[in-house]
Amino acid sequence: MRLKGKVGIVTGAGGYIGRAISLAFAREGARVALCDKDREGMERVASEVSSIGGEARIYEVDVSKAEEVEEVVSRIYSDFGGIDILVNNAGIARDNLILRMKEEEWDLVIAVNLKGAFNFTKAVSRYFLKQRGGRIINISSVVGITGNVGQANYAASKAGLIGLTKATARELGSRGITANAVAPGFIAGGLTETLSQELKERMLERIPLGRFGTAEDVANLVLFLASDEASYITGQVISIDGGMAM
Ligand code: NAD
Repeated sequence: MRLKGKVGIVTGAGGYIGRAISLAFAREGARVALCDKDREGMERVASEVSSIGGEARIYEVDVSKAEEVEEVVSRIYSDFGGIDILVNNAGIARDNLILRMKEEEWDLVIAVNLKGAFNFTKAVSRYFLKQRGGRIINISSVVGITGNVGQANYAASKAGLIGLTKATARELGSRGITANAVAPGFIAGGLTETLSQELKERMLERIPLGRFGTAEDVANLVLFLASDEASYITGQVISIDGGMAM
């Protein structure tokens, strides 16, 4: 019960990693605000949360829309009577080589992955500053550190999240608010489902631990960063990639 009495927001909660984070939070006693565009995905996660005796509520929201995010965060605050943890996990990929990348592909990935996290950070900051505490965890990617062919938009958004994390840590640290980024490597499932078998095999060769990560691996790290045990960690980027990007 490491998060007993806490309220956590998880964006992209209807997806693969968001589900694992939401369940890990609930298992440790947090009440969870599930935020996603995908209502069905959130409903599945909410029923899993209640089947383990937890409490989750669903909030349909497009993270890239600042006004929607402001409205949803104030609704979450009044529904739960507080907010302690924000996990910016919603993310998309629209891969293409630079020469072929359409303006819309660039704009959409930056809007969801980077601006979405900013929108939520800004919206919760009002409450975190007042209560002099809060945890922000941004789900970046190994690709934001190393870059990747065909992922200029995605890599830029994930590197941008690292800058956002550090700026947030500096700006809000004096009020007891921490901000950290998690950089998962190749997690089997979710966004990586669409990759070709050949690419998956090539990736595996680059992972010293010799296996792909699981959503639970990522959730365990996020849980630690959200817990009291991590109260002196801020502005960090913690890779969880089986040693891929050292
Ligand atoms: P996923 O597709 O299963 O989940 C992403 C979720 O985000 C979905 O439920 C989707 O509906 C939601 N979403 C997308 N656009 C949205 C929007 N505009 N507003 C609200 N919600 C929106 O993917 P996943 O693998 O679980 O990825 C979760 C996060 O982890 C992403 O940020 C991703 O970049 C990051 N990540 C994943 C991997 C991996 O290997 N799977 C590796 C590194 C980083």
